[in-house]
Amino acid sequence: VPTHAQLRLDDLDAEQAAAVRAPRGPVCVLAGAGTGKTRTITHRIAHLVSAGHVRADQVLSVTFTARAAGELRNRLRALGPGGEAGQVQARTFHAAALRQLKYFWPQVVGDVPWRLIDGKFPIVAQAAGRAGVPTDTDSLRDLISEIEWAKGSLIAPEDYAGEAARRHRDVPYEAKKVSAVYTYYEALKNTPDGLLLDFDDLLLHTAAALEDYSSVAEEFRGRYRCFVVDEYQDVTPLQQRVLDAWLGDRDDLTVVGDANQTIYSFTGATPTYLLDFSRRFPDATVVRLERDYRSTPQVVSLANRVIGAARGRIAGTRLQLIGQRADGPEPVFAEYDDEPAEAAAVAKAVAKLLGNGVPAAEIAILYRINAQSEVYEQALTEAGIPYQVRGGEGFFNRPEVRQAVSALRTAANRDDLPNARGEQLVTLVRAALAQVGLTREEPIGAQARERWSSLVALVRLTEELTAQDPDLELTGLLRDLAARAEARHPPTVQGVTLASLHAAKGLEWDAVFLVGLADGTLPIQHVLGSDATVSDEAALEEERRLLYVGVTRAREYLQLSWALARSEGGRKVRRRSRFLIGLVPDDSPASRIATHTTDRRNGPKRAHPTCRICGRPLLNTTATMLGRCSRCPADIDSELLEALREWRKEKADELSLPHFVVFSDTT
Ligand code: ATP
Ligand code: MG
Repeated sequence: VPTHAQLRLDDLDAEQAAAVRAPRGPVCVLAGAGTGKTRTITHRIAHLVSAGHVRADQVLSVTFTARAAGELRNRLRALGPGGEAGQVQARTFHAAALRQLKYFWPQVVGDVPWRLIDGKFPIVAQAAGRAGVPTDTDSLRDLISEIEWAKGSLIAPEDYAGEAARRHRDVPYEAKKVSAVYTYYEALKNTPDGLLLDFDDLLLHTAAALEDYSSVAEEFRGRYRCFVVDEYQDVTPLQQRVLDAWLGDRDDLTVVGDANQTIYSFTGATPTYLLDFSRRFPDATVVRLERDYRSTPQVVSLANRVIGAARGRIAGTRLQLIGQRADGPEPVFAEYDDEPAEAAAVAKAVAKLLGNGVPAAEIAILYRINAQSEVYEQALTEAGIPYQVRGGEGFFNRPEVRQAVSALRTAANRDDLPNARGEQLVTLVRAALAQVGLTREEPIGAQARERWSSLVALVRLTEELTAQDPDLELTGLLRDLAARAEARHPPTVQGVTLASLHAAKGLEWDAVFLVGLADGTLPIQHVLGSDATVSDEAALEEERRLLYVGVTRAREYLQLSWALARSEGGRKVRRRSRFLIGLVPDDSPASRIATHTTDRRNGPKRAHPTCRICGRPLLNTTATMLGRCSRCPADIDSELLEALREWRKEKADELSLPHFVVFSDTT
């Protein structure tokens, strides 16, 4: 009769089993996506516990996001329902530190009260005011990211300017000023009522408590004996310091990671610790995995080509993934004239997969920045497909979009303004948006840019709405926007996942759509110079790794798409991502790319989207944006709309509704 431990080993290949079976002590698994790293650590934990090497409550497993920690917990529970492994703690670094700090605080700090701050904005605003730095929302966001990066990188306020220069940081203001804001920020958290702590302070205080108080360290190390870290390539110097404090002079540490999936450098994360593991622990068991169990050989081959093209590769990271699964369809590449066409086609392809029985929970649409979700939320809503936005808020729920809409509402309520129409509506909208931070210039700083992009998407939407109906008044526009927001209530059923590539790490789906793969979106514009030369090589490589992360999320079906934009003269002003060069065969008769173009002479005809109410084809972009033809009413009762949708579904064949075609070389 096989024991539990044996049963678990049967589910593993030889290398995975070697990592699982390794004696207590340092273990490092360096491997590409989908090779079973997460599976290996959960099995190792289960094995150590069931073989009696360690008690379940002596193991602490950590990772970086709440979602990943949840995934780890689920997998541990799945290994033995009701078993001991399910009781092992799996937390984020922050959650683990918070718990420990609560416990140790009285011993270390005494009765000084403390509280976790729920938003950095007010304090950073105060600090910025003192330092003479602008305090608009965009500037504050940039300052917050700089402070987070510095704290994650263990850079003190007084060293900030020097380190930023040494590391060629794209600093939003004069580095000395950022340094001053950072100094004031730290000081302001010391209030007469006690200490305010941010997330990074939790880690700093935890490390300090263990480093400075031997009684605390002894108690802690008596309690936890075995540490496991997933996605170790994302560790920041600050988190590493906590980990070191946990370990003391012991070495019972298992880490797994993939340097090619380092996509959080902006928080200070670095793969150095992963790559230097065997230097630090010379007797470590180091295992490399090459077999990819997640994806079809077709997807694996594309992933190898994406990462194989990386420049300035980190030594020791060259790994070729070898697909283990049965053959599947070739990845589909598709090019569209514009974003709404791309989104509509993706929604159509999703509908087709759903129709073929693929569960919604097994489908994901992944993009570079959250602002891109808008057009997909719209397209899925139009198609009646439920979805949820992961790791970010739905477009109309984003703080900046809500703020902008409320600024518009205020403008609409002012008596001194004539109820402007058309062209004048657009000017007014821009003015209102300028109040909430939209300028024509693309701002510096990742956070500010993301926010800016959401507002640009909102302007685009209002432009379309007013172009469609030049008489549309501001109040009418607000009603239209409200109706759209209303139509996108979170679904009650499990829907298709919309997520940024960052939020998708570690996860997998049967079908994945990677969208917006145009130069300027992936790679994102700010890593490219104004003349399309590269301004930051390291940042460009991180963008390439994002594509690799995206490709490797797919188990079977993978579609990569992008939208071109053409100027009036027909000149291409936006082209497909440079990362796809060499992956997509050049435009030739044998091309594998489906070109969806309105140019009737050269390309296949693009089918038209249809009115959401009557189902007639929509013949211009404005109508497409609105999702309804000019004959149908803007205000329609949602129940009636639902009934119409049902009716159209039933009658689809009789009415010969236009359809979209997804091309691939396999069809
Ligand atoms: P990522 O780098 O994306 O986090 P990973 O290396 O952690 O990937 P896992 O998520 O652990 O990979 O595994 C990928 C998929 O392959 C999972 O569905 C897992 O159950 C499956 N898998 C892993 N190892 C094996 C194996 N030996 N036999 C069968 N399936 C496996
Ligand atoms: Mg994993």
